[in-house]
Amino acid sequence: MNQTVNQTLWQTVLGEIELTVPPSTYAAWFANTKLIDQSEDSVTIAVQNTFVRTQFEKKYDPIVREVLKKNNVNASRVVYVIEGAKTRTSETERHASAFRAPGRPTSVGASLPSVKPPTAPPSSTLNPKYTFDSFIVGSSNDLAFAACQNVAVNPGQKYNPLFLYGGVGLGKTHLIQAVGNEVVKNNPNARVLYVSIETFVREFLDIVRLKKKGNDFSDHYRNVDVLIVDDMQFIAGKTATQEEFFHTFNHLHQANKQIIITSDKPPKSIPTLSERLRSRFEWGMAIDIQMPDFETRSAIIETKAAQSGVTLDHDTVEFLANNVKTNIRELEGVLNHLLAHAEMRGVAPNMEMAEGLLGNVRATRPHHVTPKQIVEKTAKHYGLGIVDLLGAKRDKHIVVPRQVAMYLLRSELHLSFPKIAQELGKKDHTTAIHSVEKIETAMKLDFVTREQVNSIREKLYG
Ligand code: ADP
Ligand code: MG
Repeated sequence: MNQTVNQTLWQTVLGEIELTVPPSTYAAWFANTKLIDQSEDSVTIAVQNTFVRTQFEKKYDPIVREVLKKNNVNASRVVYVIEGAKTRTSETERHASAFRAPGRPTSVGASLPSVKPPTAPPSSTLNPKYTFDSFIVGSSNDLAFAACQNVAVNPGQKYNPLFLYGGVGLGKTHLIQAVGNEVVKNNPNARVLYVSIETFVREFLDIVRLKKKGNDFSDHYRNVDVLIVDDMQFIAGKTATQEEFFHTFNHLHQANKQIIITSDKPPKSIPTLSERLRSRFEWGMAIDIQMPDFETRSAIIETKAAQSGVTLDHDTVEFLANNVKTNIRELEGVLNHLLAHAEMRGVAPNMEMAEGLLGNVRATRPHHVTPKQIVEKTAKHYGLGIVDLLGAKRDKHIVVPRQVAMYLLRSELHLSFPKIAQELGKKDHTTAIHSVEKIETAMKLDFVTREQVNSIREKLYG
């Protein structure tokens, strides 16, 4: 059968499927498929990548068959293949040209406006550990994952902006950074900029306050191919910044540059967000991420333990997956805690140990912790007075505890950086950002920090 007939048939099938599944499902899975071959008893559908193929094989095959049948195609075999290596190459070439280095000769994509190279490669803001490979997919996050993969392959073409929302610790930052990393991997010349909205706010306010020329700022945010902005909810109430972001958004969107945004809530629920910004955020695709189910949580625990070189037995994995249902960051925290305990005692982690640890965590979690308690307990843990912690002295034995307090205000109460700075009597919230980042890194690399922070946590909830 020839290609035109195939295409017409497939358009009809897709048309019917589009009427029966939610729009986000259609866009994520079906929109990019093609019928490439049809013989007597088999139909071959081309999909974009392995991940999509698995989804079709596991989930969407029945609906495809059913609608094919309705259209008089009774195939005993429906085969899903990934668009051939050939198509891939041409796709990569196309992107490479879209992201060509400024000034480099090019034959395609000549309509793209040429832009100045940024002073520093902005992609350095990406954390290389956040990749698609290290992200575990389950039904709570598969749509978000698929949309992100799509955007990474076709930046600026579909789903613009891509807006991911969901509670803390559910993998939003991980996914959007994975997009950035993937784009840069495919196109080393791509300019990908990842920022927290708090950085955007701070840099913008600096310009206003110091009456600086805003050109560098605008250039920095506008000369990019992909702009990734994390934690948009913190723009609430910041009218002037919203205005500035609105212009940045329009500039990039008009130039078909990809914009990716996360928030802890959907656009319509961000308080005091200007109507026009809200409507912009709703232009593309908004997808939520939820807490993974038990199987996915188990897979995450096993994978993360394996990354630390530890194999957990089945009971321990199951126990953790059954008992930590808040978010993945917490799940990672409990797991790290367990691994640290085992390491310290020189034994293999097991379920009794996990029970002991979680017993503490659980018995205590219902307590509501206040910022004041965090400051007090941290000061006490390090044998300092509260006055020292809130003061301005820069001695190392005070600076580190101060950083830990800031870290805990963020990890336990999810306070914004300006609020954290305020709790510690600081005017400038840049310090809060650096401090939290510093301890976050130390928590991963340094056993002593981990133990100290966990010990303060135990006191907080004890
Ligand atoms: P959010 O930005 O939504 O608050 P993060 O992206 O910071 O959450 O995720 C918190 C932690 O949990 C990160 O270390 C991240 O790598 C991990 N994580 C979250 N979801 C997953 C997942 N599905 N697979 C693997 N790791 C995950
Ligand atoms: Mg995040």
